[in-house]
Amino acid sequence: MPRIPHPNDRRTLPRARHWSDHAACAGATADFFPVGKRGVPASVLAGDAKATCQRCPVRAACLTHALTFREDYGVWGGLDEDERADLLLRARRAAERQRRKEREQQKEKEKADASASA
Ligand code: SF4
Repeated sequence: MPRIPHPNDRRTLPRARHWSDHAACAGATADFFPVGKRGVPASVLAGDAKATCQRCPVRAACLTHALTFREDYGVWGGLDEDERADLLLRARRAAERQRRKEREQQKEKEKADASASA
């Protein structure tokens, strides 16, 4: 007799497709996600994982996920943990430079307005 799914049974309900359904690393073992150990940085151990990422159709989504959720370990979207940390640091610095520039422009505008009204 066929099983009738319960309406709240997550195992039988259809779910929306997720980017990870198309991951080239699907089914990979924990070795795929190397973590630096014994003085060897993860970036050195990550060559095989990065090669897989190069041919992965969901690389951009994977990297976006890792950056958004601050995945600290392993290779995501073709970048190891050090490369992702560097990318986030550069993005933070660029955002800070932009905010500083906008504050300076605002101050200059206020100065110009003040001298125009004096
Ligand atoms: S980009 Fe790399 S880590 Fe991400 S899903 Fe694809 S193969 Fe896996």
